[in-house]
Amino acid sequence: MKELQPLVSFIIPAFNEAENVPLIHDELRREFDMLDYQYEILFIDDGSSDNTLFILQDLADQFEEVKYISFTRNFGKEAALLAGLEHAKGDAIIIIDADLQHPVSLIPDMLEGFEEGFDQVIAQRNRKGDSKLRTSLSKLYYVIINKLVDVDLKNGVGDFRLLSRRAVDAMLKLKEGNRFSKGLFSWIGYDQKIIHYENVQRQKGDSKWSLSGLVNYGIDGMISFNLKPLRICLYMGISILLLSLVYITIMFVQVFREGVSVPGYFTTISAVLFLGGLHLFSLGIIGEYIGRIYYEAKQRPHYLVQDTNVREESQEERNEAARYRVH
Ligand code: UDP
Ligand code: MG
Repeated sequence: MKELQPLVSFIIPAFNEAENVPLIHDELRREFDMLDYQYEILFIDDGSSDNTLFILQDLADQFEEVKYISFTRNFGKEAALLAGLEHAKGDAIIIIDADLQHPVSLIPDMLEGFEEGFDQVIAQRNRKGDSKLRTSLSKLYYVIINKLVDVDLKNGVGDFRLLSRRAVDAMLKLKEGNRFSKGLFSWIGYDQKIIHYENVQRQKGDSKWSLSGLVNYGIDGMISFNLKPLRICLYMGISILLLSLVYITIMFVQVFREGVSVPGYFTTISAVLFLGGLHLFSLGIIGEYIGRIYYEAKQRPHYLVQDTNVREESQEERNEAARYRVH
């Protein structure tokens, strides 16, 4: 009897992935032919401009496991993930990219981790096939960011992971608008298991990441988690203040002893430039935080849905469904 098996929900964000959607659906279907689980596949069409949505509608007509939520415009992958987490009904939830860069063959291992009682089973990739420059830049980034934020972020760990129902419920309690999922997953904690896989290059379509997009994402990561960058400004301010006090004292003693000498152009200009730079830097960091407060204060929805075949379930229905499943 199928009803007694645990339900696995897949969350697949898709932004202009018309070519990939049928492929990943096919792969998942084949994989689950061999597994003793029920499953649903929840595609989030993140305002695609190609015919991703038509393909999803078509798939949903043919296969009952296919669900989709289509946004009114591109709200970004983080919003797509949130929509997925909010609407997935499974006992275990697996987040996977549409572009086949996340090997479906890892799913049995992930489910094994779930059966062992882990709340997060995380897939970590190596950097095989990535350029040397990109590999070393990301290494450097992870060294810096792990000093700055107080959650543990691992290189090569992304959104490809399995979450238990209670881990998903914990994620949904984090209401912030500016979502940096990598950090949030780490923040919620719970028992985690890591499984490793070989990096795969994207086959169809293009990566949605530009260099500036990556840099912005990196800055988001640094700023979203705590106030350390602000504290760094404070420390720099204090150090400069102390240094200048020492310098002023020395100058004062000199003036006192030898009278006023002609002030040096070099010292003046260096002080002006250095302090100006420091001020702008600190203002920039403060600005980043104020910007975030501004966005949070607006309390806008994270996304808007224009089309979906997911019926909103009441909490009772959800509990009822869960009761019939074995855990
Ligand atoms: N994606 C999305 N909204 C966006 C950008 C990307 O839903 O605004 C989806 C995309 O369709 C893919 C996943 O997020 O399924 C990862 O995107 P991509 O492959 O471009 O990122 P990369 O693998 O290069 O990190
Ligand atoms: Mg990709």
